[in-house]
Formats: sequence, structure tokens, C-alpha cells
Amino acid sequence: MLKGKSALITGSTKGIGLAIARALARQGCNIMMNGSRDPSDIESLRSGLENEFGISAYYHRADLTRPDEIAELVEAATAIFGNVDILVNNAGIQYTAPVEEFPPERWNAIIAINLSSSYYTIHHALPHMRRNGWGRIINVASVHGLVASPGKIAYVAAKHGLVGLTKVIALETAGSGITCNAMCPGWTRTELIEPQIIARAQALGVDIESGGRSILADKQPSQQFVSVEQLGQLVLFLCSSGADQITGSAIPIDGGWTAQ
Ligand code: NAD
Repeated sequence: MLKGKSALITGSTKGIGLAIARALARQGCNIMMNGSRDPSDIESLRSGLENEFGISAYYHRADLTRPDEIAELVEAATAIFGNVDILVNNAGIQYTAPVEEFPPERWNAIIAINLSSSYYTIHHALPHMRRNGWGRIINVASVHGLVASPGKIAYVAAKHGLVGLTKVIALETAGSGITCNAMCPGWTRTELIEPQIIARAQALGVDIESGGRSILADKQPSQQFVSVEQLGQLVLFLCSSGADQITGSAIPIDGGWTAQ
């Protein structure tokens, strides 16, 4: 389906981004990875994608808090592939504290990585997509792009901003063969939420697994984590012709969280 297309996935060295890279590579897509991790782990993930799926995979270390490095990341992908057909803005970080205790440097980092980096990647990649007359921009937002939770001022503001950014890009590209959508996952078991699970387990004096069940019970009616593979499947659907008319949407994949 996606054989020969190219995809740039930010934050694809672990968690949701890595699963999205694997899902796209399985369909024959060439991959540009990005994110931080031990260099030998990154190299084995990169070569693993090539060996397992017979595609070309590259890695660029751009720090997404740096606009100049984001420009270099997109330039590197277009120099190698000639285009970025699929852009997945996935990288994100989390920090939780009440607003009075929320450190300004954490606010700035979350807004930079979880929101502004998507503006920069799209700003640089869109002219290439327009030339090609086809493109998919998929922003990994969150249920927190649709609803709020206490203690997550920067994350909720950034993710709501990302949903708004998605709508503007959808309108500016409508009818051009390019679509732009946001995915809004609920709790997904990755390193990003581990500190919250540990904090809950400690607060209740229970083990980690019980801490995980407790955070699910609060918010996610299915009481089951979303899997990273399910998020990869949603990306594939958004890249398919069946999704040609889906643009500007913010799609919950959240076990019922935002239905409440
Ligand atoms: P993760 O911590 O497992 O992975 C985050 C990725 O982002 C890593 O590859 C990391 O290296 C990269 N990253 C962080 N800062 C970066 C920077 N400055 N420059 C470049 N890369 C950077 O987290 P995850 O759970 O896989 O999260 C992926 C996305 O999904 C995030 O946007 C997150 O907000 C969103 N999300 C996660 C959940 C969840 O429950 N895990 C739910 C909703 C949305």
C-alpha cells in the first residue's frame, strides 16, 4: 500500500513513535527516525527495520526544542527521499504539577516539543508535499487535546494547541491531496506515563500493576490500556485512500475516556 513512500516520524526511538515507524515500514514505507536513546540501541532499531521489512531507514538526532535542528531534520529527509510523503509529529514529553509549582522551564520545553515542533516540521515539509500533490500529516495529540486533567497545564495547553493547529493545516490544504489529522490516545503503556503509574502506586501503597489499574479506573472506561500497535494501525488507516476525505479531525482512541 505504501511501498516506496517516505515517512518522517518524530520521537520514533521508543514507545508510540517506534510502533508507528514499524507499522509504516511493514507496509513498505522508507523511514526517517528521530528521538533520543542510546546510540547503539538506535542503530540496532534502524538496521532492524531495514532487515525485517526490506525498506531504507535513516536516523536524524534533531533536538525538537531547536528550530534550526528541525529544519535540518526535514532537509535531511527530503535530500534522501526527495520528499516527505507522511509526516508524523509524535514526539512529546510530560510533567505534572499544580500551576503554582509548575516550573517555567518545563512549561517552555513542553510547549516547544509537544506543540511548536509540529509547526516547524509542517512549515518545512509542506512545500514538498504540495509539489507531489499527496501527503499525510498526522499529529499525535492526546485525549488532553480534547479534555483537561488537573496538574497538566502545559501538556493540556500544548495538546489543545496541536488540535487547533491540525484544523488550520487541514483547511489550508483541503482538496490538495494532503490531509492533516490528530490522533487523541488515552492511557497507553509507555515510559511517558510510567512516573504517573509509579506515583499512584506509591500514594496507594500498592504494586506498580495495581497503580496502572488505578489510573485506568479513574479515566478510561474500558479499563484497558491502548496498545502502541493499535495506534500504528490508526496511522495506516489515515494513510489509506479510505481516509482521503478525513481531514481536520481529532480522533479519540481512548477506551471511552472522552465519551464521559
Ligand atoms: P515516550 O516517552 O515513550 O517517547 C517519546 C519520544 O519522543 C522518544 O522517542 C523521545 O526521544 C522523543 N523526544 C522527547 N523529547 C524530544 C526532543 N527534544 N527532541 C526529539 N525527540 C524527543 O512517549 P510516548 O508515550 O510514546 O509518547 C509519544 C506521543 O504520544 C507524545 O506526543 C505523547 O504526548 C503522546 N501520547 C501518549 C500517551 C500515553 O499514554 N503514553 C497518551 C496520549 C498521547
